[in-house]
Amino acid sequence: MKKLAAGNWKMNGLAAHMAEIDALAAAHPAPASEVLICPPATLLSRLSDRVSGTPIATGGQDCHPAESGAHTGDTSAAMLADAGASYVILGHSERRADHGETDALIHSKTTASLAAGLTPIVCLGETLAEREAGKTLSIVGTQLRGSVPPDASALVIAYEPVWAIGTGKVPTLDQIGEVHAFLRDTLAAHLTALDATDIRILYGGSVKPTNAAEIFGVPNVDGALVGGASLAAADFGGIIAALDAATYG
Ligand code: PEP
Repeated sequence: MKKLAAGNWKMNGLAAHMAEIDALAAAHPAPASEVLICPPATLLSRLSDRVSGTPIATGGQDCHPAESGAHTGDTSAAMLADAGASYVILGHSERRADHGETDALIHSKTTASLAAGLTPIVCLGETLAEREAGKTLSIVGTQLRGSVPPDASALVIAYEPVWAIGTGKVPTLDQIGEVHAFLRDTLAAHLTALDATDIRILYGGSVKPTNAAEIFGVPNVDGALVGGASLAAADFGGIIAALDAATYG
């Protein structure tokens, strides 16, 4: 299984911003790792067309659990796939916070994504108060068991401490390693159709070209989910190069 560098553009990017992806593809024509960009829904179809013929894949940032229907403003997993996506980010902490998303809702979105042929990237992570209360492993374990159907046929996990997202703060390498090892064990006990050793567990939270190499050296870190630093080709390219070097260098 290739390592994965996934970029989450969040609610950023107008059409002109797609030039960054042209620059990324030109600078990294044959990455050893898998490269994914999840643009806002408005750009998904155009960006998917634009990267066709390059190694860059595209994904959505969320989906509705229903296949279609009266859900104004929402996008189904089948619509994302139809727009060229092969992945979808689910349960990002910003959606859990801004939209009150629960593990049960994320579970139903994960099932819908798999039915549409998408690979879900299910996000888990503790708040600072939860970490300081010593609850990190129980929080991410509960999120994992609640959000991921045991019979999932494809899956990526992203461990994203809420307090590290967009803050410039990063857990210690030991803290990252502890959570990733725990998630690997929890996946092994939870999944019935997939082998836990085949699941990519990404780290996310203030990954930059300057700290990527050391994070990718931590056991059980199989790539990164990158927010801010995925918006500029030079930064995201630096993270891809670090992932390639850590894995295959
Ligand atoms: C994210 O939103 O998934 C993320 C990790 O953001 P940032 O890299 O900006 O911390």
